[in-house]
Amino acid sequence: MDEELEFFNEIAQKLLISEQKNPVVKPVPTHQVIDELDINFKDQGIKDDEWKELIEKMINFTPKTASKLFFNQLFGGRQPKAVFGDLLAVMLNNSMYTYKVAGPQAGIEKTIMKKVVQLAGYPDLADGTIAPGGSMCNFMALVMARDSVVKDTPNAGVNSKMTMYTSKESHYSIPKNAAFAGIGRDQVRFIKTNEKGEMDTNHLNDTILEDKNQGYTPFFVNATAGTTVLGAFDDIEAIHHVCKKHNLWLHIDGAYCGGVIFSKKYKSLVNGIELSDSFSFNAHKMLGTPLSCSIIIAKDKSYLSKSFSNDADYLYQTNTDDFDLGKTSLQCGRRNDALKFWTLWKSIGNNGLEKLVNQQFYLADIAREYIKNHPDYTLYSFENSISICFNYKDIPANEICTLLYEEAQAMVGYGKFESTEFVRLITINANNSETDILHFFKVFEEGAKKLELKHSISVNTA
Ligand SMILES: *Cc1c(COP(=O)(O)O)cnc(C)c1O
Repeated sequence: MDEELEFFNEIAQKLLISEQKNPVVKPVPTHQVIDELDINFKDQGIKDDEWKELIEKMINFTPKTASKLFFNQLFGGRQPKAVFGDLLAVMLNNSMYTYKVAGPQAGIEKTIMKKVVQLAGYPDLADGTIAPGGSMCNFMALVMARDSVVKDTPNAGVNSKMTMYTSKESHYSIPKNAAFAGIGRDQVRFIKTNEKGEMDTNHLNDTILEDKNQGYTPFFVNATAGTTVLGAFDDIEAIHHVCKKHNLWLHIDGAYCGGVIFSKKYKSLVNGIELSDSFSFNAHKMLGTPLSCSIIIAKDKSYLSKSFSNDADYLYQTNTDDFDLGKTSLQCGRRNDALKFWTLWKSIGNNGLEKLVNQQFYLADIAREYIKNHPDYTLYSFENSISICFNYKDIPANEICTLLYEEAQAMVGYGKFESTEFVRLITINANNSETDILHFFKVFEEGAKKLELKHSISVNTA
């Protein structure tokens, strides 16, 4: 192992230097990547020197998500103490299902849950777990809701037409999970939103009533804290009012921006969170841990075990129920995603986590201000969102984003709200500063100039 660790150190150092010099890598076309990087296998292995060379080459061509010009997704940057925790988790290689195998690691996960439960304002009866991603947290919430409404579902299966509700702007995992859970995509109702992308609760109520009249069984509402495109926050209190009236499970998908619970300044964006039945967030988004660290809590922990426990005599052999985390989790063997969050949290404290969140909103304000002050831009996003959606002159968003990517200038994506497509800049990398955001706009405008030039050449030669 010594040699591999030494090599790891060496290439990690090189990576840190190279992502500063070349923050964006030139993409290898998909039809070339397997051959170009010698990815395929042979009967014979290769010599260590060759193996090392190959790995360095592969790293060079891999997108640099921690760089200062990566704004493409809802994660980015690198928190050193969290990275350390994840590396350590791999070295320790525990599985989180039993205390016997996880030891203090189970205590770490339980402590994180306890703290998150408090931040959400849930009672002591609440508990949570870590799932492999925010999509799977949403899946767990859906299954708990299903089993809480029709109690015999885990044994008998789904026997009635159960309907569920989510906004048009919510994440695609919701209909996908409906298919997984035996509910069926046809039973998902996509509720209208207002101009900010927030769920229209009147439409929600009317749709539920209509379904009831048709003989369906409404059971689940998904509210979003930070929609994928605009970063909008649904009005939890208003949605809860409707859920309570019709006795539906309320889940909050906070995968993107649920991390605001760590900030005194921005926590009000999820006002009413304590009224929900379940809540999830991705620490690998706003809190900067490496992928993935997705936490789901349920207000009444008995629903977690009702839906996710199963007898397994070969596994549960000690009397440590409360620390045998396999009894409330989706998986059997489960990697330790808690440690990286803990190593970070311990190091920077509650205040440090709050600073990470606040910094992202600060950077978003910088970006919005810049756009507002430059008349060539059109802004589509609102205050209190770290998704900054805009267009520049009349340049199509997909064209400029693709050019910046292909010419290795910046990684930024585009999105759509109603019929408008725009560039979507995500300020989730808390390591960035005002200078980095302003630098992005400079790079962006240079790219736009190139594109305009290309267009005028093609117009002139046509
Ligand atoms: C990212 C995201 C998800 C999915 O989380 P994964 O960890 O990628 O599975 C779900 N909902 C919202 C709103 C998201 O932004």
